[in-house]
Amino acid sequence: METVFDDRMSFGAEDLQAATGKFKTRYAFFHTMTIGRSVLGRPLTLYLLGQGPYKALYVGGVHALEYITSMLLVRFTDRLCASAQEKELLHGLDAATFLKSNALAILPMLNPDGIEIHLHGAQTAGAASKTVQRLSGGDTSYWQSNARGVDLNHNFNAGFRLLKQQEAEHGINGPGPGKFGGYNPESEPETRALCNLCRRIPFEKTIAFHSQGEELYWNYGSKTPLSAHHMAVLLGESAGYAVKTPTGMAAHGGFKDWFIQTFGRPGFTVEVGKGRNPLPPEQCPAIYQKLEPMMVLGLQI
Ligand SMILES: [Zn+2]
Repeated sequence: METVFDDRMSFGAEDLQAATGKFKTRYAFFHTMTIGRSVLGRPLTLYLLGQGPYKALYVGGVHALEYITSMLLVRFTDRLCASAQEKELLHGLDAATFLKSNALAILPMLNPDGIEIHLHGAQTAGAASKTVQRLSGGDTSYWQSNARGVDLNHNFNAGFRLLKQQEAEHGINGPGPGKFGGYNPESEPETRALCNLCRRIPFEKTIAFHSQGEELYWNYGSKTPLSAHHMAVLLGESAGYAVKTPTGMAAHGGFKDWFIQTFGRPGFTVEVGKGRNPLPPEQCPAIYQKLEPMMVLGLQI
């Protein structure tokens, strides 16, 4: 069967829409939901697979330079759906049976505006073009934020005051290409949409995909569940990724931090691949191959 996108090419908001359209015609049990809109009005499309309790929520495309994570999640969706349809095993998982009584939600691209800015320049930012142009100094090749210059993975309500102190110490005082967490937590529509989704659906766990480093983070504060470290070890082993336990000055404001602190359920950040961001799209097949066992295991543990 033809693949849903060309691995050698970059992958933006329109490519995601095209892949989503193909899934809809190909797989009867593939459903989508628009959980909100980006700053520039692009839909934030959630994939819903299977029925029953949600074993996990997978999130990608948070940082613009890391759009390869969107490609990986789209590829995984395709593989899981195809395995269920063809009644084949996927790393030992009977996907057809699994999806009859369990569900998975995938948000492949939280930051479509930022990804478009990174890939195609400030002029893609509509009403925000001039601001993006100014904040980026005309070079959007290192753009990580959304269209308002807020780093979405610093915009969640977890240790936000500490995050603001850290920003001040690093001379980050306002919107920019990355690392600015906004003036308030959940100030951005993308962040709000994701938080509201998690408040509505009790996902057993979440995995947020970033790049790069081939490593996995699992803890945040006292609400981290006791089972999380063991799960991280299993997930890490399945892909040959290192389990990281930060000591000293911790990071704050991230999605997994907020998820753990708010719900006391397991939340992980996986840094995929190795190299320098943006990882070239042609690395997608090799990264995916290593990562697929972890994506499958994330549904089973
Ligand atoms: Zn990231």
